[in-house]
Amino acid sequence: MKLSIGHLYPKLLNLYGDMGNIIALTKRCEWRGIEFEYDPIGIGDSIKEHDLYFIGGGQDKQQQEVADELYKNKEFLTEERDKNAVFLGICGGYQLFGHYYQPFEGDKLLGISLMDAYTVAGKKRFIGNVTVETDFLTPNTLVGFENHSGLTYLQGDTKPLGRMIVGNGNNGEDKSEGGRYKNVFGTYLHGSLLPKNPNFADYLIELALEKKYGEKFELKKLDDELENKTHNSLVGKAY
Ligand code: GLN
Repeated sequence: MKLSIGHLYPKLLNLYGDMGNIIALTKRCEWRGIEFEYDPIGIGDSIKEHDLYFIGGGQDKQQQEVADELYKNKEFLTEERDKNAVFLGICGGYQLFGHYYQPFEGDKLLGISLMDAYTVAGKKRFIGNVTVETDFLTPNTLVGFENHSGLTYLQGDTKPLGRMIVGNGNNGEDKSEGGRYKNVFGTYLHGSLLPKNPNFADYLIELALEKKYGEKFELKKLDDELENKTHNSLVGKAY
């Protein structure tokens, strides 16, 4: 079997080790004999069809450059979403999955509305460890690190990834973290996220295989002793 991933603008949005998410997906596929094609997409490149798409985080300046480019591909990426391609956006990339990101100063950045959500810059920067309780993963926790001033509000059919146990999450008010609509996932968890949350990495791989081959897959278990030890050491860890 083979999966392909389009990495959206890694030269601009790749903060706090977000590339580690690509490495985790690549290795967890290869360790199971699933071929994994990596396609880094730059400004001006045309975007090919992929089974997964990843976009990392970045500062407001880089977000502006990427937002303009992403918007040119909004129709194509919406079609990909509706074909159940799997998207993962981290922080700044997640914010661009919504309708817009209004920075503290300057013009509103238009998002590509893959999910019904919007983000406005807050006065306070949320920085620290995060633990989230989900209802779709086993074990049911996600751990990571947040560093954002954006406040994201989910609307309509967009559901959170989970409920905040430690940290601020989407906006520090409604105890939600991240967002999901169809197979589009966004989160504020840097870290990088997937190496510390093998449960979520495998969940995304299974969704991508189902999208590509039209049937449900249950991946063979890997020896995740180190990953689980790291994950468990961070569950509940405060600032
Ligand atoms: N610039 C955005 C914010 O501060 C995203 C930052 C990030 O990607 N870590 O909310």
